[in-house]
Amino acid sequence: MTHDVPSRPGDSEAALGAPVRVGISACLLGQKVRWNAGHEKDAFLVGTVGKFVEWVAVCPEFEIGLGVPRETLRLVAAGGDGAVRLVARKSGTDHTEAMNAFAQQRAAGLAADDLDGFIFKKESPSCGLFRVRTYSAAGMPSRNGQGLFAAALVAACPELPVEEEGRLHDPRLRENFFERLFAWRRVKTLLAGRFSVGDLVAFHSREKLLLMAHDPKSYQLLGRMVAKAKGRPRAELAADYRKQFMAALAVLATPRRHVNALQHMAGYVRDQLDAPGRAELAQAIGDFGKGLVPLIVPMTLIRHYVRRFDVGYLAQQTYLDPHPKELMLRNHV
Ligand code: SF4
Repeated sequence: MTHDVPSRPGDSEAALGAPVRVGISACLLGQKVRWNAGHEKDAFLVGTVGKFVEWVAVCPEFEIGLGVPRETLRLVAAGGDGAVRLVARKSGTDHTEAMNAFAQQRAAGLAADDLDGFIFKKESPSCGLFRVRTYSAAGMPSRNGQGLFAAALVAACPELPVEEEGRLHDPRLRENFFERLFAWRRVKTLLAGRFSVGDLVAFHSREKLLLMAHDPKSYQLLGRMVAKAKGRPRAELAADYRKQFMAALAVLATPRRHVNALQHMAGYVRDQLDAPGRAELAQAIGDFGKGLVPLIVPMTLIRHYVRRFDVGYLAQQTYLDPHPKELMLRNHV
C-alpha cells in the first residue's frame, strides 16, 4: 500500500510526500507463496509499517518458477571448494544456477529502482540474511549461511538498510532499522541531486545529534570530510559521505549516548525554564538513563520545549523525529 510519509523536522531535502520503498520477502505480506502454499504474514509490518511504505514484494523461489506448493530447499556446502548450493531436499535437484542468475538480475533491478531498504524472511535458504542452516555432505547443519537472493542483494547494494523480520522483534534493532531506512532516503536524496557544499554543511548540521547518539567518532570524521569538501569531485565526495553516514547509523545507539544528546539539547532550553522545569527535565533524562522510562519520555518533553521556546537549531534536528511517530519505535527503547 502506498502512503505519504508525514513531514518531520529535517526532512526538507527528503522528497516529502514520496513514499519510502521497501523490498520484502513476499510471504511476510501474507502472500501464499511458501513451499506449503502458506504464508508468514507479519502483523506489525503489514498493519503498522504498511501505512508508511510502499512495499516491493519478492519471492525468489516462486519467481524462478518453482511453483506453489513445492519441494523444500536447503543450502548444502558439500564440495571441498566451500561453494554453497541450493538443493531440493528429497529429489536432490540443484537450483543454484537458476537462483544465482535470477538473484543477480533481480538485485540489479532493485538497486536501480530507488529502493530504501529490504526486510527478509529469516532462516530461508533464499531469503535468510543471517545464520541460515547450511548442510555438510554428511547432512550436518551449521548456522552460518546466507540465502542466495539475500547475498546477491547485499552485494549489489552494500549500503542499503537490510534486516530480518525475526530480528525486528528486538526493540533496539527495530528502531535502528527504521532510523536507517529514513536516513538512507534523506542522504540519498540530497546526494543524488546537484548539491552544494553549503547543502552538505546544512545536512550534516541537521543530522548532528542523531549521529552523536550512534557514533560520535563518525560524526567527527564526517565533519572533517565536510570541512574539506570544497574542490573535491562531487561524485567522490557523495560516495564517501554516504558510506560513512550509513556506517555510523548502523552502530546501535546506546542509552549513555542518548543521555549525552538529550543533555546537550537540554542546554538550549535551560535558561528559559524555571527551577521546577529544569528539575523535571533532568529527572526525565536521568530516569531514561537508568532504564526506568523509555526514550519517548524525555524526548517528548524536549520536543515540547523546542516548540514552546522556538529553538530553531533543535527544531531542525532529525534526532527529534527520525521516523513516523505512529511506528512508536521509541516507546520501547
Ligand atoms: S522466504 Fe522467500 S523464497 Fe521463501 S516463501 Fe518467503 S519470499 Fe518466498
